[in-house]
Amino acid sequence: MVITNVEPIVLNSKLIQKFYFSQWHYESRTICIVKVVTDEGYVGWGEGYGPANVIKAAIEFYAPFVLNQNPLENETIWQKMHRRSLDFARRGIMLSAISAIDNAIWDLKGKILNQPVSILLGGRKRDSVPVYASAMYFTETDDLTQTLVEEAVVLKESGFKAMKMKVGLGIEQDLKNIEAIRKAIGPEIKLMIDANHAYNYREAIQLAHQAEPFNIFWFEEPLSPEEYDKYYELRQNTSIPIATGECEFLRDGFLTLLKNKSADILQPDLGAAGGLTEVKKIASLANAYGVEVIPHCWGTGIAVATALQFLSNIDITPGRMFAPEPFLELDRSENGLREELIKPAVQVEDGRMKIPNKPGLGIEIDEDALRKYAIS
Ligand code: CA
Repeated sequence: MVITNVEPIVLNSKLIQKFYFSQWHYESRTICIVKVVTDEGYVGWGEGYGPANVIKAAIEFYAPFVLNQNPLENETIWQKMHRRSLDFARRGIMLSAISAIDNAIWDLKGKILNQPVSILLGGRKRDSVPVYASAMYFTETDDLTQTLVEEAVVLKESGFKAMKMKVGLGIEQDLKNIEAIRKAIGPEIKLMIDANHAYNYREAIQLAHQAEPFNIFWFEEPLSPEEYDKYYELRQNTSIPIATGECEFLRDGFLTLLKNKSADILQPDLGAAGGLTEVKKIASLANAYGVEVIPHCWGTGIAVATALQFLSNIDITPGRMFAPEPFLELDRSENGLREELIKPAVQVEDGRMKIPNKPGLGIEIDEDALRKYAIS
């Protein structure tokens, strides 16, 4: 059996209400997915994280090296793609294209072998995972703090036991928001903060110290992603665990974070860091360094399904009877592509999601939703 078609598809979902984070506004969600087909009619789906039109062009670049390959040989295909662009793409968006194709090939493998991807990765260590709500973005409102508090309370009432809020508006405003949200949700709910690399070291340490009394579960991307040594200094000087990695790529990139002791938690995105083939290796590296992996996930239902399959298999060390479970990041911002594109739909029950056990990623694409959102 060989791969006979690699088709990138750009999807766009306009937002009713625009939102922003520390860097820019979103008025729509535009995402590139890829459909990989074999001569026997099997279809696999993958998704890349990042600017969709560029990922589409990059997928078109890689397609000739994927066509006529055996879809069961995911590593061989990965190597062909990587070596063909290594000279100019050691980081960045080309790797999102490789990731999308790689994840689609895993979906294909699962469907051909009639097994879920989690089994093919080595086995299902869990059938469900706790979900944290990635939420509390900034919106244009008369009272931002109050708006965020209301959102946090709704999330808590809908069963989430963990939630992540944005920071990066300035330390004073951030602290006001953190304090109000913590007060509203009570002490039991896990609360993370995410600056999307908005701060320099001096600002980050100031925010970390002042946020410590509010029991922050982790502080995500406080600093610019390339400040590996500053991340280490920050870790040395705050009790809040430091998380980063959504802007990092490949095992070599994550090895740099590990060697520099930059993070307590690594967050590779399965649609950018190199796909399931590479992120499994990144997770093994992290494990050897005693660092946790909780993938970054921010896209359509395909990205959610890919992360779920990965999380089913991931190692948690040290092992113990009541070991902590790995979290799925579930974006709660408005996004039709997450809610409508896959069947069965993304469904959270009491703060948890089941990991599909159907073949491949365990999902089907809703063709009506695909037609509705496809723009190229
Ligand atoms: Ca983030």
